[in-house]
Amino acid sequence: MIIDLRSDTVTKPTPKMLEAILNAKVGDDVFGEDSTVTKLEHYMEELFGMDTAVYFPTGSMANQAAIKLHTQPGDELICDIWAHVYNFEAGGASFNSGVSCKLIQGNRGMITAEQVEESINPPDFYHSPLTSLVCLENTTNKGGGACYDFNEILKIREVCNKHKLGFHLDGARLMNAIVAKGHTPKQYGEVFDSISICLSKGLGAPIGTVLMGNTEVMKKARRIRKVFGGAMRQIGFMAAAGLYGITKNVERLQEDHQKAKEIEETLISQMYVSRVEPVETNIIIFYLKEGLSQELFLSKMNDLGVKISSMGQGKLRLVTHLDYSPEMHKRFLEIINSVEL
Ligand SMILES: *Cc1c(COP(=O)(O)O)cnc(C)c1O
Repeated sequence: MIIDLRSDTVTKPTPKMLEAILNAKVGDDVFGEDSTVTKLEHYMEELFGMDTAVYFPTGSMANQAAIKLHTQPGDELICDIWAHVYNFEAGGASFNSGVSCKLIQGNRGMITAEQVEESINPPDFYHSPLTSLVCLENTTNKGGGACYDFNEILKIREVCNKHKLGFHLDGARLMNAIVAKGHTPKQYGEVFDSISICLSKGLGAPIGTVLMGNTEVMKKARRIRKVFGGAMRQIGFMAAAGLYGITKNVERLQEDHQKAKEIEETLISQMYVSRVEPVETNIIIFYLKEGLSQELFLSKMNDLGVKISSMGQGKLRLVTHLDYSPEMHKRFLEIINSVEL
């Protein structure tokens, strides 16, 4: 039994999702004729109460398109120092949009309204880049699945209004935050100008992200997607998997969160663990005691059939997901309790 906890992206379609894929009605989406893609986009618009949703192959592409839609070359965006848009999109903000990033030292990947306000360059001071966009991430990835306090998001919205800044949410795992905090998608739809949501993580689809926004922001979304090489043909087969994920696999995210919580509780009491970040959703970040070898730990785990990823700076990350079964969970807790370093 291989227990793969590197990411919630490792899931494979279940038989029922495969059935949805096989039965999908498709057409050429570049002609706007793929009814399954259209169905998914309309479903997301309804769910979040936003004007326009566009299906993208990846979350990185959706975020990059959002940055392009909100900015002009030479502008600056504000984000946390751990943000995916800055760290894990291959420098796309500068490559695709000619935009620099003002990085904020936040708390577990989350920034405050006060920090945002302090980071805005005065627009009349023409020597500095023009601040035009704020990007948040919820849940945070490098921050260990932490969720924003919704009131802080509302305060950041006010700052964006006051300074006429775009407000984008990298919501790769937003459904995890929504389930964990008991908010509704429409609450998020009301606050942000654009939101990206991954269908290929906790929701279990093989690929796909939806970018949503109001009409004004999304006017050129399909053009930008084409510029990035992301206009696809009979992609309804994959949209069907995404539609299955967003309609059937949201409530069950709670099970992933529960398992993550149990892993946290088991890790805390181990001699070899120095610290576990508080678990809020499906990501567990922990650190080994000083002097212990991360390589040795990872290779021992690997020998026991457990795959774990290292995030650098001594951080180890575990992510629970749809394919992490109750049997695997039981076995993994036994392994944590018995492994010796
Ligand atoms: C996974 C992820 C993305 C998108 O990643 P892709 O691999 O391009 O789909 C974006 N933001 C965050 C926070 C993520 O975790």
